[in-house]
Formats: sequence, C-alpha cells, structure tokens
Amino acid sequence: MNVLLCGDFDAAEQAAWQQALAAAMPEARWWTLAEARARPAEVQAAVVANPPPGSLQGLPALRLIQSLWAGVDRLLADATLPAGVPLARMVDPAMNAAMAETALWATLALQRDFFAYARQQRQGRWQQHAQRRADEWPVLVLGQGEMGRAVARALVGMGFPVSGWSRTAGPADPGVTRIAGEAALWQALPRARVLINLLPLTAQTTGLLDARLLAALPRGAGVVNLARGRHVVDADLLAALDSGQVGHAVLDVFHAEPLPPAHPFWTHERVTVLPHVAAQTDERSAAAVAVANLRAARDGGSLRHLVQRERGY
Ligand code: NDP
Repeated sequence: MNVLLCGDFDAAEQAAWQQALAAAMPEARWWTLAEARARPAEVQAAVVANPPPGSLQGLPALRLIQSLWAGVDRLLADATLPAGVPLARMVDPAMNAAMAETALWATLALQRDFFAYARQQRQGRWQQHAQRRADEWPVLVLGQGEMGRAVARALVGMGFPVSGWSRTAGPADPGVTRIAGEAALWQALPRARVLINLLPLTAQTTGLLDARLLAALPRGAGVVNLARGRHVVDADLLAALDSGQVGHAVLDVFHAEPLPPAHPFWTHERVTVLPHVAAQTDERSAAAVAVANLRAARDGGSLRHLVQRERGY
C-alpha cells in the first residue's frame, strides 16, 4: 500500500511519525507530498495532520483519508478535499485519558481555589478560603463523544455531579446525567459551577460560548475550553471575567495559535493559558489506530471513526 503522509509538522515531527507508522505497518510505502505528486495514480491512502489545502487533490486511487488529529474542522474547511473518499479521525484511548487528566486538574483547581491561591502567591498574600466539597460543585461537559465521555467519567469518579450535553440523546455513563438539545442546555447552565467545552467546531457550535451563554452560568463559574478557540467569543469572555460573572477561565485553544503576544488572555489574572496541550496525539498509540484503518481499507474491512461530513464531525 502506498500511503501519503503529510501535515503541518516540522521535519523532526514528520520523521517521528514516519518512523512510528512504518514500524506499525512495515509492508506499506510511506510517501512525502513531493513523492506522491510524482506518482499521483499510485497513492492509495493518506495519513494527514492538517495538510496544506489542496494536498489531497488529484489522487484517483485514494481509498482512505486518515487524520492523525481528533478534530477535523480544518480538513473539512478545505474545499478541495476529495468528496467521495472516506475520512476517518483519530480516536485513541490514550488521548482520551490525557484529556480526562487535563479536565480533572482544571476542575479540581477551580473547586478548591488553587488558581486563586496561585494569584495570591504572586501578591504575597496569605488568605484561606472556605473548602468546598466535590459533591456540591456541579460540572457541565459540552460534548459527549470520545473526549467528553472520558472527562465525565473521570469527574464522576472524583465525586462531582456531572451533566453531559450532546446533540442527540445517547446512552449515559454511570453517574452522568446525559442531556441533549438546546432547551436542556439552558436548563443546565444555571447550576454549572464549571463548564467544560469538548464540542467539535461546526457551523452550529462556532461562537456558542458567547455573552448570553456565559450570563446563564452562576456568578463566578469556571470556564474550561479544551476544544477549539472559535467556540468562544473572546471579547464576551473577557467582559464576563472582568465583571466577575466568570471567576476563572482555563483555555487550551484559541482563535489564532500560537496565541498572539498582545492578546489580553496572556496577562489576565483570571485566565490560565495552555499551548494546545490538553490531549496531544501520542504517535506510539495513534500509529496503531491509523494502521488498523489503513489495513481495513486495503483488505476491504470496515473502517472506524468515520467523519460524517454533512454534520461537520
Ligand atoms: P466526538 O465526535 O467523539 O464527539 C463530539 C460530541 O459533540 C458528540 O457528543 C456530539 O453529539 C456533540 N455535538 C456535536 N455537535 C453538537 C451540537 N451542535 N450540539 C450539541 N452537541 C454537539 O469528538 P471528540 O470527543 O473525539 O472530540 C471533541 C473535540 O475535542 C474535537 O473536535 C476537537 O476539536 C477537540 N480536541 C481538542 C484537543 C486538545 O488538545 N485541546 C485534542 C483532541 C480533540 P452526538 O453524540 O449527538 O453526536
């Protein structure tokens, strides 16, 4: 099988991915974009990570596009993406576990005032706040897919009351209150001490975290955005932080990445900035996931984790 491997990685990242994938599927030939361009009719699959727009055009034998990233919003924004070719996204239990760790850390730090204590340390201020219990700190997780469910399960394990919101009603994990649809969201928001966003970026979810939604949270709630920057209206979040409506925000993703040096999030005392590391793709486990799908495409098996392009995720 001839596989194009391309993405927005630097030379070292390309080499690391090539090595991991070749180790998992030694029988395949792994081609760079330049090599694929030289023999376009022979490319049978593509393993990609936000490749330059147009990279996947003109490959008549392409049977599968496998993303190394879980979010495919940038891929789907490429109008030249071949329409009839199955597109699979990365679903890796190791990534889900990493996301659960990040969400748990952020929620615990919000519940126990650890971000406030970090602020106080910078001011040399010794002041104790009342200790809250996890069971009186409801968390609302937006998105009940691979990531959102892993996060919800981890939070339930720590004793938090957890609601999980999705587009369609699905099976609830033990201890998680599963809700669906817009009306249910607006009912859940006023109880949520912490709001964690794990939605895919689609036409419906872009700008969802705006002034109206933030105003529906209880005063001082924590906002944790681990999904995509464009889910948040930055000016609205900053205004909510300044007014105290939002007590603290943990942000891993931004409209522009890297976050521009002059962006107010960098220096806002109630914002914690992470450089898009909530759950990084781990090539050791992700290579095996990608290769399982490549072999299924080669052998006529069933493909996993396919994106439904019309719904945007
Ligand atoms: P999934 O596709 O497995 O899950 C998406 C969830 O969102 C589903 O529950 C889906 O509902 C729900 N959803 C989609 N649209 C809507 C809507 N309009 N209203 C309500 N719910 C909606 O995705 P993952 O869990 O794997 O990943 C989620 C996102 O996390 C990715 O798209 C990516 O942007 C982000 N991510 C961030 C990373 C980071 O390091 N910061 C790393 C990896 C991913 P339903 O169940 O009804 O289909």
